[in-house]
Amino acid sequence: MTSGGGSMANDMSATIDQAIADISQLPIQWARIRNRLQGEVGDLEYRNWLRQMTLAGIDGDEITVLLPTRFLCDWVRSRYGDRLNSLWHGENPAVRRVDIRVGGGVAPMTGLAESLATTVEPPPVVPKLEERMDQRPELTIDPRFTFEAFVVGKPNEFAYACSRRVAEQPSSAGFNPLFLYGGVGLGKTHLMHAIAWELVARGNTGVGRPVSVTYMSAEKFMYRFIAAIRSQSTMQFKEQLRSVDVLMIDDLQFLIGKDNTQEEFFHTFNALVDVGKQIVVSADKSPSDLSGIDDRLRTRLGYGMVADLHATTFELRISILEAKVARAGVAVPAKVLDFLAHKITSNVRELEGALNRLVAHANLFGRPVTLETTQEVLHDILKAHDRRVTIEEIQKRVAEHFSMRLTDMSSARRARAVARPRQVAMYLAKQLTQRSLPEIGRRFGNRDHTTVMHAVSRVGELMSRDAGFAEDVELLRRMLES
Ligand code: ADP
Ligand code: MG
Repeated sequence: MTSGGGSMANDMSATIDQAIADISQLPIQWARIRNRLQGEVGDLEYRNWLRQMTLAGIDGDEITVLLPTRFLCDWVRSRYGDRLNSLWHGENPAVRRVDIRVGGGVAPMTGLAESLATTVEPPPVVPKLEERMDQRPELTIDPRFTFEAFVVGKPNEFAYACSRRVAEQPSSAGFNPLFLYGGVGLGKTHLMHAIAWELVARGNTGVGRPVSVTYMSAEKFMYRFIAAIRSQSTMQFKEQLRSVDVLMIDDLQFLIGKDNTQEEFFHTFNALVDVGKQIVVSADKSPSDLSGIDDRLRTRLGYGMVADLHATTFELRISILEAKVARAGVAVPAKVLDFLAHKITSNVRELEGALNRLVAHANLFGRPVTLETTQEVLHDILKAHDRRVTIEEIQKRVAEHFSMRLTDMSSARRARAVARPRQVAMYLAKQLTQRSLPEIGRRFGNRDHTTVMHAVSRVGELMSRDAGFAEDVELLRRMLES
């Protein structure tokens, strides 16, 4: 290590020296890291996912690790990326980042060919997950939808816990079937895919063969059933479905009114549950609220565990955004995240879409993300989401909430009991409407725009100091938004 206080040039050359000196150590460090990882994740997981990693080289402070397929890359990056980063940095402080890329056994990037030749793995014995899945076209699982990538908060923690439980111990009493329900874009499909991933990653059914998971949308189920009837191959269709270990049907509401398909699903369902196979079903409503579903089926659907995904809260939206920003590797100011979480409240899919667009824009034009660029880039989305809350509504709600007279919103009275709620209403008017400060001032008894400005900053300040007050304002906001 260099002594403190050296010139910048000295420090820099010291760092470079250190990095160069360490290059010969890379294979040894890599071997140690792999051992550590294997110990941490266990043999099975290591063999399935990590074994095929090869070290390609170092470029500056970035280590490149190769995997043979894009799919494996995505998986390893999302599940083990952070861990690889920190293990590498721990072994070799010159390393700041690990880049995981497609490739394998090919020419390393830098002059490390000799020292690294020994680390190239023999062909794997375990079939890659991907190949196993390709043999079953039904199982098209999105590699982004893992438990690790699912952000847990109050609205979804129960559904998440139930899903995890089913993935870890399929067919346990009380959890079969697992029925997940909730509005559009709240994570039902994500959780189902995560269950499938986990089941396949865990591998064995205990009978020496890979677990067989079939995931299908209800529409696909219907389509396949009708096609089977047409080609007179319903027996085959039935046998195929009844041979799986885990059956997942997504968006069951699409079977409403489709009597024959429902009947078929009902029989498949019973046949599987009777022999202890796990079923996972999702829908937009609870079994009891799904009208147009046969009563026998409805009863059976509610027989195991029913878990709902509630609408997101502001806190959950912020956590989701933070997690996605961390993955995207683009700096997005907290102010922008706050803005998005306030504006896009409908569902996670839209929130994600907005963020993706921001990130793509930032990458494309190399411009930093700011509140201004956000408003510009998301102009159309934000417009569609603009809640048409009026200043009158805000005044009315706030007055009700603080038990004051509506006329005092515009009166000249300055008593605290009146002035504070008035400030809250001004603050909300600024937040929830497109009105300008002078316009807002006019609606509050012809007050000056500086009065509004003062109210906005005062309320913001109070909210950050007084949690009870912040909660009050947040509650009002939600009431007005809904
Ligand atoms: P649904 O099936 O309920 O309509 P999806 O599972 O397709 O919703 O979710 C929509 C999008 O939002 C997906 O990209 C998903 O990854 C993402 N998403 C939903 N909930 C979460 C969450 N809690 N954490 C991270 N991403 C989420
Ligand atoms: Mg879905």
